[in-house]
Amino acid sequence: MEKVKIGVIGLGRLGMVHADHLVNLVSEADVKAVCALDQSQLDYAKKNFGVNTYTDYKEMIDTEDIDAVVIVTPTGFHPEMTTYALNAGKHVFCEKPVGLHLDEGVREMEAAIQAHPELTFQLGFMRRYDASYRHAKELVDNGKIGDIIYIRAYGIDPISGMESFTKFATDNDSGGIFVDMCIHDIDLIRWYTGKEPVQTWSLGNNIAAPQLEAIGEYETGVATLKFANGMVATLIGGRHAAHGNQVEMEIMGSNGWIRIAQEPEKDFVTLFTEAGVVRPSMQSFAERFEQAFINELKDFIHRVQTKQPGSVTMEDGIRALLIAEACKKSAETGELVKIG
Ligand code: NAD
Repeated sequence: MEKVKIGVIGLGRLGMVHADHLVNLVSEADVKAVCALDQSQLDYAKKNFGVNTYTDYKEMIDTEDIDAVVIVTPTGFHPEMTTYALNAGKHVFCEKPVGLHLDEGVREMEAAIQAHPELTFQLGFMRRYDASYRHAKELVDNGKIGDIIYIRAYGIDPISGMESFTKFATDNDSGGIFVDMCIHDIDLIRWYTGKEPVQTWSLGNNIAAPQLEAIGEYETGVATLKFANGMVATLIGGRHAAHGNQVEMEIMGSNGWIRIAQEPEKDFVTLFTEAGVVRPSMQSFAERFEQAFINELKDFIHRVQTKQPGSVTMEDGIRALLIAEACKKSAETGELVKIG
């Protein structure tokens, strides 16, 4: 099979990771060009990946002989870039979330995807490609824990990432804690249960990072989701974990429970010193989900080669955004918000 020729748009915290994986670890991908606004990122990519560089994504798409684009720019750009690339005949892998608001280009993006069934579109909810979350999915689907009663999810970035997050959220609108961060767990809850929540009561605070108030962000966001059958989920998203990247989930069923990755241990090393017995922990999402990020790109490339639609769809992205926006509204108004 022919390799898939790729252009990567965005080379920041995650874009450089994706570009590196595509160049070095995804053998069926051939990265031809990259696009970013930051010259030092472009210089790094040119030197290390041997690719052409652009600051204008339309010029890259129009000029380069590429089959697909991987979009890793700030969220507000996802709708226009996806729409442009599809209309130019390119397959698209787009990072989560699909956009900042449902009424800002997201419907046009959906229409472009529907207008091009011959092109593969895949969304970057990479936790679905993590081995532990996949194992849990198999257990749920095989009825090992019975009917789901309650789900508890934590998604808390390390405090060591606060500076780079603050830059990200200052330069561009992140969408806020629910749209930017909790949306991963919202997607997983939909994936595990096959159900949509009908109501949320959400709250946020900035106790751990009062400086985020100035850029309209909550450092911590907590959401309770109610489902039509009475099932409940609670999510907490944050950016304050002192020890590392804390991502965990518990799924309680009528017949048993599943708990996923409750401690972010870096590896099998335990350090015995005067400080005590210490298990070093993972310090970033890129470290925790390294294999998932690689797996999702490998699968996207395979789907392009075999002319299949993406595994994580625009519908998944829109549903998750709808829920995250309801959580945001509830936290901002202090009210119970109906979803959908
Ligand atoms: P970032 O701010 O670190 O990097 C953004 C990159 O996009 C930079 O290279 C910048 O130069 C480039 N860019 C900005 N505007 C551009 C434009 N108009 N044209 C071309 N390039 C442009 O952002 P990030 O943290 O890497 O996040 C990017 C996206 O990835 C966001 O949507 C975010 O939600 C998502 N993300 C997902 C995960 C995950 O776990 N799946 C993790 C981090 C980020």
